[in-house]
Amino acid sequence: MSQIAQSHGLAQGALAGQVNVDLSAISDNIKALRKRSKAPHFMAVVKGNAYGHGLVDIARTALSAGADWLGTAQLTEAVALRKAGITAPILSWLYLASQTSATIREALENDVDVSLGSAEQLRVLAGIATQLGKVAAVHLELDSGLSRGGARMEDWADLVTAARAAELDGTLRVRGIWTHLAWADVPAHPGNSAAVADFERAVQAAHDAGLAPELRHVSSSANILDRPEFHFDMVRAGLAIYGLAPADHLNPADFGLRPALTATAPLVMVKRVPAGTGVSYEHRSITHEPRFLGLIPLGYADGIPKGITGRSLVSINGKRVPVIGKVCMDQFMVDLGPSADGIRVGDTAVLFGDPATGAASADDWGSAIGSHGDEIINRIAPRLARSYSAGYECPDYQEDGRDG
Ligand SMILES: *Cc1c(COP(=O)(O)O)cnc(C)c1O
Repeated sequence: MSQIAQSHGLAQGALAGQVNVDLSAISDNIKALRKRSKAPHFMAVVKGNAYGHGLVDIARTALSAGADWLGTAQLTEAVALRKAGITAPILSWLYLASQTSATIREALENDVDVSLGSAEQLRVLAGIATQLGKVAAVHLELDSGLSRGGARMEDWADLVTAARAAELDGTLRVRGIWTHLAWADVPAHPGNSAAVADFERAVQAAHDAGLAPELRHVSSSANILDRPEFHFDMVRAGLAIYGLAPADHLNPADFGLRPALTATAPLVMVKRVPAGTGVSYEHRSITHEPRFLGLIPLGYADGIPKGITGRSLVSINGKRVPVIGKVCMDQFMVDLGPSADGIRVGDTAVLFGDPATGAASADDWGSAIGSHGDEIINRIAPRLARSYSAGYECPDYQEDGRDG
């Protein structure tokens, strides 16, 4: 495997912990998902620094594997992609509508498509587009029940009328209509069909108002796997491209998906302690017999959740060992057992990675704390060293004259 990007971590992070992202897993996952999707277009969602995997590297890999759109929540991430030379269409859906917003101005200057879900947002976008002499490409967002962004059904008619007027004024172009499902992670839930029925009425209302959006998009990962009738013109894939479970009943491996991210740390101490030894703050764990303990130089400052005590989530030399005692800010202990079994200082502890290797997955860590894998990977602190590997050469992207 070729190392294709260097560590972005602090020097201290290189000692403590390491995150490796296998770009070939991202690439294979996208190819598998594209095959499964009935939609002609495929958006790779790279919000949250690509779910902690690294914004630009993942975006480039996704585009070379067959994604043709990128999605971010924040406009600043979309602009960062443009500054890295990425020219593929990008949609962003979360911003503060303000006439003085430098962020919106920069997004429009950089040809970022933006979501539009209220009369207020429309006024602001049209105003900034007029100042710039640009036509803002927008995707109208229906609030189909998530009660997050977007216009509710009862406000939809006014929104499409105003959007059509702005199109005729030459300030906006409605390129898409979309919604995000409240029951996205429970594909069989009847709330999904009801929301999609509303969505279809909303699309019809847009057509009736004279709009001609090319892209209708509704489905995130779980519905890509489970509800082909919700795919429309484009799907928006997040969790599944990272090989994480988009729903409790959907095991990524069953769909040929595997986690791309592996987190490891070196064992910095191995010691034998007698029976009756209290471990970590407040001695919440006490050994019942002589045991060997291993010290791992990662803690909750690195995103290790406190709730993993007692869980066998760490693998060392192929053996799963439980976390013992409270997780500290920079370190925690594992119980290696009555014998160290050849485990030595400097051996690599795999925290989470591809379960096919015997390691715990980020989803296993998530369920240990009553959450999901995405919360685990999104918590990983920037101080961990990062590297990228791939079984192929990463495509070189042409810089298009923008500053890197
Ligand atoms: C996060 C997000 C997605 C991707 O969801 P996954 O479940 O991670 O696939 C799609 N669309 C929107 C609007 C999102 O916020």
